[in-house]
Amino acid sequence: MKPSVRETRPARVNILRQIWVVFWVGAVMATLFTAWTPLGIFPIGLIDGIRQAFNEEDQSELPLITPTPRPRPRVGIVVGHWGSDSGTVCEDGLTEQEVNQEIATLVKENLVAAGLDVDLLMENDELLIQYDARALVSIHADSCDYVDINATGFKVAATLATTTPEKTGRLVACLYNRYQTATGLPSHGSITPDMTSYHAFNEINPNTTAAIIETGFLNLDRQILTQNQSQVAQGISEGILCFIYNQDAELPSDP
Ligand SMILES: [Zn+2]
Repeated sequence: MKPSVRETRPARVNILRQIWVVFWVGAVMATLFTAWTPLGIFPIGLIDGIRQAFNEEDQSELPLITPTPRPRPRVGIVVGHWGSDSGTVCEDGLTEQEVNQEIATLVKENLVAAGLDVDLLMENDELLIQYDARALVSIHADSCDYVDINATGFKVAATLATTTPEKTGRLVACLYNRYQTATGLPSHGSITPDMTSYHAFNEINPNTTAAIIETGFLNLDRQILTQNQSQVAQGISEGILCFIYNQDAELPSDP
């Protein structure tokens, strides 16, 4: 009995193994055929699932690649004499204030188009108190009276008491350089204490870099100041952009 038992036990094990193998081969084949699709062995539903997962991932990343809007640089433009008085007055009634207003309005348009936020300020605007911006430029023009043949050209000045001489010097240099290039006007050497001690310099926030420009003399430079204002405004706008974007500018040899 013992040997026969020994003979029959391996036979039963073999049958069980064969059944087991057949079962697994069947299971594997069934899985393969179920998975077989024209696109490969992955079911269509699985492909769509993968695609959808990638799309959803792309969409979830969209806010990350959307550029974060940078704050627009803010500058202030003082319209000389606006809200205060007429400034110099010509014999025919033309006032400095009108001319300043027209030029400042064009400057604002240029700078807004270039991506800046611009405040047009009155001569004694209450906003000037601790005014905080990248730059402040006050626009004025010189006398309408005939003085002599040398009473022509523009002037740019800043406070002598600046706490940031490098920035102030650069704003002045940028305005000089770009204004001279755009208008072809000479620079007029006489910087008066009226300019360097301009009232707004003491009112604004010390971090705001400021300058004042006399765009020309309303007598000898009347033509360009009233008929070619786009050139005048371009010179001031490009001077401000030169300062904001840290562009090269040299002071002329005859400031
Ligand atoms: Zn003035």
